[in-house]
Amino acid sequence: MRIECIAIGSELLTTRRLDTNSVWIAERLADLGLGLHRKTAVGDHRGDLAELCEEAFRRSDLIICTGGLGPTFDDFTKEVWADTFGVELKEDAKCRADLVDWYAQRKRVPPPANFKQVLFPEGSLPLLNPLGTAPGVWWEHGAKAIVLLPGVPREMKRMWVEQVEPRLKPSSGGAMHTLRMVIGGVPESTLDQRTESIRATHAHLDWTILAGLTQVELILRSPDPLALAAARAELETELGDDLACVGIGDLENAVLDALRFRKESLATAESMSGGLVASRLTAIPGASDVFKGGAVVYSAGAKLALAGLDADLLQEHGTISEATTLALARGIREKLGATWGLAITGNAGPSLDEGGKDHALGDCILAVAGAERHEVRSFSIPGDRVDIQLRSAAWALDLLRRMLIAAG
Ligand code: AMP
Ligand code: MG
Repeated sequence: MRIECIAIGSELLTTRRLDTNSVWIAERLADLGLGLHRKTAVGDHRGDLAELCEEAFRRSDLIICTGGLGPTFDDFTKEVWADTFGVELKEDAKCRADLVDWYAQRKRVPPPANFKQVLFPEGSLPLLNPLGTAPGVWWEHGAKAIVLLPGVPREMKRMWVEQVEPRLKPSSGGAMHTLRMVIGGVPESTLDQRTESIRATHAHLDWTILAGLTQVELILRSPDPLALAAARAELETELGDDLACVGIGDLENAVLDALRFRKESLATAESMSGGLVASRLTAIPGASDVFKGGAVVYSAGAKLALAGLDADLLQEHGTISEATTLALARGIREKLGATWGLAITGNAGPSLDEGGKDHALGDCILAVAGAERHEVRSFSIPGDRVDIQLRSAAWALDLLRRMLIAAG
């Protein structure tokens, strides 16, 4: 069954309001084992909506529209659908009585404009709205159906659960199961290559490779949990340490879990990333058992005072240097009595190295220091200022995660 959602409302084409209805409906459909094939947002424009209704009816079996059922001049979803099939709108007596009753309970009479809300295309069935004045529509055309729901999310959800879902036949495949894997430090194209043969073997699963700014996710969906488990086992073997976590969670969860497992702790000294690593770690409840804290060592003074950096070393090497970054990681580790110290320096935008040395935009140095082991890495990070900062924090978390795994 091909299903599509149409979100109607000019505000949905601006930053003023996001179409949250379609994504909510998509999740509910997935629970029934039904997939959403397309969603469109369209402004309050009769011509555009009419064109879309025609297209949608041609290509889809179930069309779910939200919005445009209100009393105002820009609400005409039912009229446009009636025109699409060349039928008239007819008043529904029960809905008219409900409308009058709704206002009577508020000691008012309905304004004339509201009576258009109780008109329905001939051949369709009204869906009652227990939370508002806009009833919806259920309209079957042979094996196809059109559902019209109000735009107000609260009203739409209640009507969907109580009146639309009972009318939908769950897919014979049953509910969908999802497997999510977070991969650190592997570009999307490399991941695509490395999973190619596994995707071919498990082609019956629904595969998505979702590249974010700081990590890549593999998302697999199937009605069959055993099929997902089989693919998971092969992916775990292929990805090895590149696999940061499975299920919920991100790089910071993987780091916290690895520290807990080893009964170790962490302290951070962040210059270029301005505390983003600490922020990501402390966003997880309970992080305090392994994360001791950190300092935003943005100026030379802060590096000396908070991370115990030696002024001569800074003078000799400059800020964005492997020697300084490693000294910051060692310094903060010592100051806070942590098992591991992590430091980030770099150039995320116009700035002068305190050592007076030149660095390209995106130059970044990461250091992780423990009692016996340390790692220092230099990178050139692409993107604008915010991208560079976000990526440096993610890459630092991933470097630490890999060191913790390697430590056994
Ligand atoms: P309407 O049914 O078009 O009168 O919309 C009623 C209210 O619901 C307005 O505040 C809309 O901005 C909001 N709304 C309409 N469609 C959506 C949608 N797809 N997602 C979230 N809010 C919506
Ligand atoms: Mg509207």
